[in-house]
Amino acid sequence: MSSTASSSLIESTAVQSGRIRVLKHGAHKVGPVVYWMFRDQRLRDNWALIHAVDQANKLNVPVAVAFNLFDQFLGAKARQLGFMLRGLQQLHREIQDSFQIPFFLFEGEAIETIPNFLEECGASLLVTDFSPLRQVRGWKEEIVKRVSDSVSIHEVDAHNVVPMWVASDKLEYGARTIRRKINNALPDYLIEFPKLKPQSRKWAAATSSLIDWESLIENVVRKGAEVPEIKWCEPGEVAALETLIGNKNGFLTVRLKNYATDRNNPMKPKGLSGLSPYLHFGQISAQRCALEARKLRKVNPQAVDTFLEELIVRRELADNFCYYQPYYDSLQGAWDWARKTLMDHALDKREHLYTREQLEKAQTADLLWNASQLELVHHGKMHGFMRMYWAKKILEWTISPQEALEIAIYLNDKYHIDGRDPSGYVGCMWSICGVHDQGWRERSVFGKIRYMNYAGCKRKFDVDGYIAYVKRLVADVKKRKGETLLNSKAKQLVNSSVSIPKSL
Ligand code: FAD
Repeated sequence: MSSTASSSLIESTAVQSGRIRVLKHGAHKVGPVVYWMFRDQRLRDNWALIHAVDQANKLNVPVAVAFNLFDQFLGAKARQLGFMLRGLQQLHREIQDSFQIPFFLFEGEAIETIPNFLEECGASLLVTDFSPLRQVRGWKEEIVKRVSDSVSIHEVDAHNVVPMWVASDKLEYGARTIRRKINNALPDYLIEFPKLKPQSRKWAAATSSLIDWESLIENVVRKGAEVPEIKWCEPGEVAALETLIGNKNGFLTVRLKNYATDRNNPMKPKGLSGLSPYLHFGQISAQRCALEARKLRKVNPQAVDTFLEELIVRRELADNFCYYQPYYDSLQGAWDWARKTLMDHALDKREHLYTREQLEKAQTADLLWNASQLELVHHGKMHGFMRMYWAKKILEWTISPQEALEIAIYLNDKYHIDGRDPSGYVGCMWSICGVHDQGWRERSVFGKIRYMNYAGCKRKFDVDGYIAYVKRLVADVKKRKGETLLNSKAKQLVNSSVSIPKSL
């Protein structure tokens, strides 16, 4: 279906051709350029947007950004949708005010709204960003079929530092096999972004991009109230940059130096960058994070190298897995040795067996695990080290590896602010199915899958301290929830007292 952009009718100068794939060659026609934004929801440092504006200027046609809000995408609730829409609201304001690029928001199925919009505005080029997830790829395949012959479609990998298809053209076995390939390509791809150029021709009907954000957000937050929004992580590009390089508490400015050691200590959540929500929603570019981190390499070589390994190698390895392994979220996607060992031990006696409901409610005999589950449910982001322990225990306590995987993915996607991400599917697959890992000493239930236990955690960090820390976190969230409830009750009271007729 695709070829690289060098063979495209429209040559790009602003973006390296390796970053662009042509999904469809349209017949020669001059019409607006539309960027269907999906995974890279930002104005700054966005190769897909740069490409769309560049192409529009070359053809002397206007450019617009279109976003499709699905009624349902991988079970996202208020927590994820609220964060996303608040980020988009800021983007809409900024892209319109600073660049006069209209932003269109559609609700429904992208396979209908996007082709309809292209037809309505007579577009000649659709630019889209890249995601390896099967749903997104399915929609794109359908859109390619549905749009008229005159429309070209370009896909730009605006998410990865080294474009996924440049890094490797096959399923990689692990970090060790992809690392060299990525590192070899870094001099070409880890480069400064060009400035986003002003458009040479403006969109005429900009009024159609009026969006009632407040009602939209209120609506999704109400519908997805089962998993409420989080307060500690402010959405949007500005907050993302603040998290990266802010003077007060920016990761690179203040917290980087102990990253290599502190990132494995759940008692030190600030030891991690905290960037995953922003990276997941594309509110910050991984390339920007890498460029800024690289500037500090002389002073903090170990911390920077460790961070770049996670940010580039591990993250891009996750995209590689989800793209080249169709069964990226099921036992079928495990390597043969891992599937075999899990099956060999499928009937082993489990010391505890819990249902999904018990696990979701943190009702296990393991206080450490319960704390991590509560951190997930109430805080919306579990510490990276605990994610491994958490998923491995689900394997130990459920009737089969397939069920363990399904429960882990269900909980991960439902409660994590950064869930529904390739790194999440691969994280669960690594923990439960040994993906990107090696075989270890064989033991009950796990077979040769790497094992983790409470005693190991106790040796590594202050387990009781972590449990107490999560208790405080949860109490804080509940207190705030109570205050919000009281506030809304008070508001109701005020409102109702206002409307009581004096005669009563
Ligand atoms: P940092 O340590 O500061 O890392 C910086 C960035 O590097 C992260 O934001 C992430 O993009 C990348 N990164 C770090 N560790 C990994 C990793 N192991 N694999 C791939 N990329 C990595 N990550 C998600 O983004 N979404 C998820 O839903 C998710 N679920 C996970 C589930 C399990 C069971 C496991 C074991 C891991 C999961 N991860 C997930 C990977 C990792 O735990 C998180 O990316 C990290 O904890 C996010 O916090 P941070 O940004 O503060 O991390």
